Amino acid sequence: MRMAFLSIHSSPLGKAGGKNTGGMSTYLRGLSEALGAAGYKVDLFTRAVGTGDEGISQLSENVRLIAPDDGNGPLAKGDIYPYCPEFAAAVDQFRLRDRSRYDIIFSHYWLSGCVGRVLEAKWQVPHLIMFHTLGRAKNEACSGENEPYLRIAEEEKLARSCSLVVAAAQQEKDKILAYFKLSPEKVAVIPCGVDRNLFRPRGRQRAKEQLGLAGRSVIFAVGRIEPVKGFDLLIEAAGLLPEEEDFRVIIAGGGDQSRPCIAALKKTAATLGIAGRVDFRGIIEHRDLPLYYSAADVTVIPSHYESFGLVALESIACGTPAVGAPVGILPELINRSGGRYGYLVYDRDPVSWAAKIREVLLYPEPISKSGIDKLLAPYNWADAASSLTGLVVKLKP
Ligand code: UDP
Repeated sequence: MRMAFLSIHSSPLGKAGGKNTGGMSTYLRGLSEALGAAGYKVDLFTRAVGTGDEGISQLSENVRLIAPDDGNGPLAKGDIYPYCPEFAAAVDQFRLRDRSRYDIIFSHYWLSGCVGRVLEAKWQVPHLIMFHTLGRAKNEACSGENEPYLRIAEEEKLARSCSLVVAAAQQEKDKILAYFKLSPEKVAVIPCGVDRNLFRPRGRQRAKEQLGLAGRSVIFAVGRIEPVKGFDLLIEAAGLLPEEEDFRVIIAGGGDQSRPCIAALKKTAATLGIAGRVDFRGIIEHRDLPLYYSAADVTVIPSHYESFGLVALESIACGTPAVGAPVGILPELINRSGGRYGYLVYDRDPVSWAAKIREVLLYPEPISKSGIDKLLAPYNWADAASSLTGLVVKLKP
């Protein structure tokens, strides 16, 4: 079976943690690698940046990353929509030259869905979509977000027209069903995996020493920095921690550190008198993150909304408990952990968050490898790949 994955606005090789690249890239790399290892052929299409050069690279066994050139040059994410049909034509041209035939299209994010819709009509194959986030959910969850009506309307059309919608967590499926009034069989839940070879405990004290944080309590947060991630709540909570607690809040991600939303977070930290204790590290290479998770005493996930929340899996895989909002996979994951590897905070009051963070710093629960293995067993890319192929086979005419 040969699959066309579409990831139009962001390349799975882009640096995660910037404005437009995050969990979706981790997802595409993890899932496609597992599919390739199981013998399926995956071609991952992303939009070329107008170099005139149709880049093809081998990502892993049976997995190619292809950047067909639609001749329109570099385009910001917000400008891509009108060019979706032209990009679809460039993908189809590539397919003809390459003499390949695809059995399914799997679109990631609504812009890819708009490209996938054109190809679906041409190729007459099932079209699956994963939204990664929903415009309506972002707007409803967080007043700082302002996703355009165009996106919201297109997501609704795509949810109805696609053969199958894939969500990564039950909570996301429930939202999709409620928003788009689909029948439950139309939406499948395939949880994300986590690379346990990369994300494993490295020894907290040694990791702290390596990062120059020895002897301090380390509170870690990681992700694209945008309002929906709720990092302001983390900073407000940190401002309530007792002065004698020698802590550092390390925030990874964010790309350009002069962006207004990052400047606003820095201003909040300064106003609360903790500017010297909050360290914005910018994007940290994915492969270097395990060191940060390992050094941390707690990872905080204060998001207003997550469609999954890979950071929670990565943190727990490194032996560090997560304190998070009940978003994405967190309720399922944390409730299964029996209050050992993670804690939910249901309100958005900084006092509640400060209290939970302080409790984890003061009274860390013992963590065992077997406990982590058991908790994370359902989250692996090989299972995600076989769930997907099982569903695809049923979709075939
Ligand atoms: N990430 C990274 N470096 C950074 C910030 C984030 O590699 O500096 C990765 C992180 O490891 C995770 C992904 O980006 O795999 C974020 O995924 P998540 O599901 O938490 O959030 P999303 O980006 O999908 O909203």
